[in-house]
Amino acid sequence: MPSDPKNFEELRVSGRLPSPSGVGLQILKLTQDDGHSAREIGQAILGDPALTGRLLKLANSARSGFVQPISTVSEAIIRLGIRTVRNVALGFSLVTENRHGFCAGFDYDRFWARSLARASACQGLSRQTGVGVPAEMYVLGLLSNVGHLALASVHPERYSKLLGKHDPDAAAEFARYERREFELDHAEVAAFMLQDWGLPEAFQGAVLTHERPQKSDAPRGRPIEDIPELLRAGTLLAEVILARGNESAVVWNRWAVGVEKLCRRLRLEPEAFHSFTDQMLSEWAEWGEVFGIPTQGAPDFRKLRKRAREARKRSGAPAGHASSAPERPADERPQRSAPGRGILVIDQDPAARESLSESLQSEEHAVFTASAPEESAELALRELPRIVVLDWDLPEAQGLKLLKSLRETKEGQRMYFVTTSADQDPDVECAAFDAGANDHLTKPFNPRVLLARIQAANTVIQLQDQEERERAEVEEAHAELTIQRRRVARMARTDPLTGVHNRQAMMESIGRSWNTWVRKEIPFSVILIDIDHFKKVNDQNGHDVGDVVLRETAHAMKHTLREEEDLCRIGGEEFLVVCPATTMEEATACAERLRETIATNVIRCKGFHGHVTLSLGVASAGRWMQTFDHLLKAADKSAYAAKAAGRNCVFIAPEGGDAVPASA
Ligand code: GH3
Ligand code: MG
Ligand code: MG
Repeated sequence: MPSDPKNFEELRVSGRLPSPSGVGLQILKLTQDDGHSAREIGQAILGDPALTGRLLKLANSARSGFVQPISTVSEAIIRLGIRTVRNVALGFSLVTENRHGFCAGFDYDRFWARSLARASACQGLSRQTGVGVPAEMYVLGLLSNVGHLALASVHPERYSKLLGKHDPDAAAEFARYERREFELDHAEVAAFMLQDWGLPEAFQGAVLTHERPQKSDAPRGRPIEDIPELLRAGTLLAEVILARGNESAVVWNRWAVGVEKLCRRLRLEPEAFHSFTDQMLSEWAEWGEVFGIPTQGAPDFRKLRKRAREARKRSGAPAGHASSAPERPADERPQRSAPGRGILVIDQDPAARESLSESLQSEEHAVFTASAPEESAELALRELPRIVVLDWDLPEAQGLKLLKSLRETKEGQRMYFVTTSADQDPDVECAAFDAGANDHLTKPFNPRVLLARIQAANTVIQLQDQEERERAEVEEAHAELTIQRRRVARMARTDPLTGVHNRQAMMESIGRSWNTWVRKEIPFSVILIDIDHFKKVNDQNGHDVGDVVLRETAHAMKHTLREEEDLCRIGGEEFLVVCPATTMEEATACAERLRETIATNVIRCKGFHGHVTLSLGVASAGRWMQTFDHLLKAADKSAYAAKAAGRNCVFIAPEGGDAVPASA
């Protein structure tokens, strides 16, 4: 993980990260230890009919070849394996629970439409290439960009502003702005979240790397061989599918060339490739329908490939000056009404549905109607009505079951339920309130009474919205303060000239390793580094140039070191590397690597063209040392001995004795 886990911890404690609830949460809890059984997970999934249907759909669409379709959760567990079923359930629960939010500049529909496109693409690519398990790759595609959603959820106002100023589709660049603003970027957040949810480790690596610019030295047409490459290809396809239509010709050409390359990498003839993309698009549309996410308007992959071929033919002509973007004007994008304004009427009696619908329809509320419980649950989670008028007399206590299962979801908790029943028994009314109803009416009732109740519901909803907004503002202010505090703390530990840790951070770092050494005898070492004849650099070229040389030297050293080896600037041209869990031999090899790198690292800047050399002293924690001060003194003595021996060399401090050359 590149970023400090503490930064993510702070996002987590905000309590506003997207998270599964209901069955998703139940499954997450069940699988937090190893004691869970397939039966328990199967039971949990069966408690949610919508999830069951989606899981079976995925299990069937993920199969390769002509395997018999399956129809039960236990078959899905056998075919996909319990871990995959768990991950799929988790992924689906996240989609259902996080369809909307408060970040004004964040297009939730587009985010999920693209996630579904990436999911279908990754699944298809997995079937095609044999890399990963198709259903798992579906989940990876679905959640790989969940970091955007997370940042939008925790910092709605500030993320909205960032989205207004910069283009999130330019992923690597946008990540830089995110890091500047929040101290971590969407890929890092996603990787932490996937780790938190216990998704496979390979997912995290793929999520962290798939948007980074690719090395251009990879052999042409090589097949897709690992999960990061698969996710990268899936991301490209999803980008193309979700094109707005107003992208520049440069972007369209990049896509066209990328898709053309992908076709070759998949070893597919053009027609086979188009069958592949057709299938991917139709699966995407089906999943969109399942989750109520608009998915129309993907561009034509055939035309896109033609464009790439034309660009190739015009060899020498810059790719960005080819023809304009393929069809699909931006206004073709499907429009949706604002979420959360509707009333859902659930009643088995068609006449009652019609009359309720008629009396409730208004400018303020759209009315949806449903009769069967499964259809009602789907509709409720798709349209997210704020008010539900529910017929309590549905057969087999289905009204009760529906109310309870919706109340288990985050969205369902925001709904205002008015139950209606022809039964005048007060026990019926009490049972409805017990199950979570907000109001109850006994049939027959006067439509004016219902309208008056809806009016009261509106007042409650408005208050609830206001409270949520206020809470979001307070939480955001808190998150902002936390970031400020973190930024100040980071600056207090950073050397402003070189950007590496300063002496204060070095003391903390060495203190940590020293404590581990004292408690567990895990060895650790330090390397003291002094730049040779640095005064000359200043004298001959000026202090400003000296500063640049110092900075460049620090950067070159940092690149040579491993993540856990902590480089600190402890004085003018002196540095110390704290190497946790490192023996003297390993630290000596590391020092030698540093020496050689710097001695051959040519620095070119205005007024300076050349290299510097280092004198390095290595010391390791030993029982004869009482505090880490002794360790620092031993390293200092070694570095001094390296100077005395003629510089540009490494000396080490053996126990109790005088420093000796590392190469001796
Ligand atoms: P030696 O090989 O013995 O280490 O020689 P040296 O010249 O490197 O050692 P000395 O301790 O005599 O000089 C260190 C120089 O580093 C002196 C000082 O001007 C320079 N220096 C210290 N901090 C900075 C800084 O922040 N910027 C610049 N440009 N120079 C610095
Ligand atoms: Mg010095
Ligand atoms: Mg020096």
